[in-house]
Amino acid sequence: MENNKSLGNWLNAMNLAHPLVIAGPCSAETEEQVLKIAHQLKETDATVLRAGIWKPRTRPGNFEGVGALGLKWLQKAKQETGLMIATEVANANHVDLALKHDVDILWVGARTTVSPFIVQEIADALKGTDKIVLVKNPVNPDLALWLGAVERFYASNVKNLGVIHRGFSTYEKTRYRNNPEWQIPIDLQNKFPDLPLILDPSHIAGRRDIIFDLCQTALDLNFDGLMVETHFDPDNAWSDAAQQITPATLDQMTIDLKIRKQEGDAVEFKNKLNTLRTKIDVLDHQLIESLGKRMKIADDIGRLKKKNNVAILQTKRWNEILGKMILEGEENQLSEEFILRIFKAIHQESINHQKKVIND
Ligand code: PEP
Ligand code: MN
Repeated sequence: MENNKSLGNWLNAMNLAHPLVIAGPCSAETEEQVLKIAHQLKETDATVLRAGIWKPRTRPGNFEGVGALGLKWLQKAKQETGLMIATEVANANHVDLALKHDVDILWVGARTTVSPFIVQEIADALKGTDKIVLVKNPVNPDLALWLGAVERFYASNVKNLGVIHRGFSTYEKTRYRNNPEWQIPIDLQNKFPDLPLILDPSHIAGRRDIIFDLCQTALDLNFDGLMVETHFDPDNAWSDAAQQITPATLDQMTIDLKIRKQEGDAVEFKNKLNTLRTKIDVLDHQLIESLGKRMKIADDIGRLKKKNNVAILQTKRWNEILGKMILEGEENQLSEEFILRIFKAIHQESINHQKKVIND
C-alpha cells in the first residue's frame, strides 16, 4: 500500500475538535437498549454509535448477537440522534446487510483479520465503497498480517480506511485481556502516519478500571481516536460485561483525558516530547517485563542445579554470554562498557535468585 495522504481524509472531513470517539455496547441486545444508549451518548463527545450485531465468540454457548434485526435498531438510533453507526462485519452477507441498512462504519474484527480468505471476501463485497472501513489488529501480534488486511481493502478501492488497536492475545495471563504491545501500533503509525489509528481500550483491558490509563497512553502516542464499549448497565450487559463503562463515565473520561493534539510552537514541542517520552515508557515497561521473565528462568535453573548438585556459578557459560552480548551491543550502537555494566548487574541478580532457590 502506498503511503497515501488521502487515507485520513475522512477523519479530517469530520472536523472534530477532539479525537474521534466511537462508543456503544459490545452487543446490540434490544431495541430499547440500543436507543437508550444512543440518546445518552448524544450528550457526550461520541460521534459514532457502535454495536455488535453478529458476535464472534471464542467459545460456543455465549451470546452470539441478535443478527440482522439489530441493524434496524441502529438505523433508528441514527435517525433519532444523528450519530453515525458502526458494526462488525465478518463475511460478504454481513456487508450486504450492513450496506442495505446504511451503516456508516464497518469494522473487521480481530478474529477475521487473521484470515486472508475472509478479509478478501469482505474486501470484494466492499469494492469501491465510500463507507469507512476500520480494520482491527489480528488476535496474534503480527504487523504484516494487519497491514496485509489493510492492503486488501486498499486494493479493492476502499479509500476511507483506518485501523483499530485492540491488543493481542497471549497464552500467559497478564493484567490485560489482550496485551497492548504498543510497539506494534507505533511501528504501523511510523509506516503509515496518515492512516487513522484508533484505540479500543475495552478489549485490551477486559476490565473497566484500566481503560482511562490505556486511553491516555494512546493519546500521548498520537492515536486519532477511541472506541469504547459503553452500556447504561454494564454489569448486566449480555457480553463483555466487566469491561463496559456507562455513557456518563465515558463523558467524564473525555473531560479528564489530556488531549495533546493542539497547534502552536510551544505546544508542538510539548506534544512531541510527550510522544517520545511515552515511547520510552513503553520500552522501559518491556525491559522490566523481560528482566522479570529472565529471573523466573534463573529460578528454574537454580532448582535444576540444586537437584543435580551443581555449583551456581558456571564461569565458562557466563563468559560466553558476555562475549555474545558485547557483539550484539555493538550492532545496536551500545558501548562495551555499558553492556558489561548491565550484564554484570543482571548476572548478579540471577545469582541472587538462584542462591535463594538453592537455600530454600
Ligand atoms: C468487539 O468489538 O466487540 C469485538 C468482538 O472485538 P474484537 O474483534 O476486537 O475481539
Ligand atoms: Mn466486546
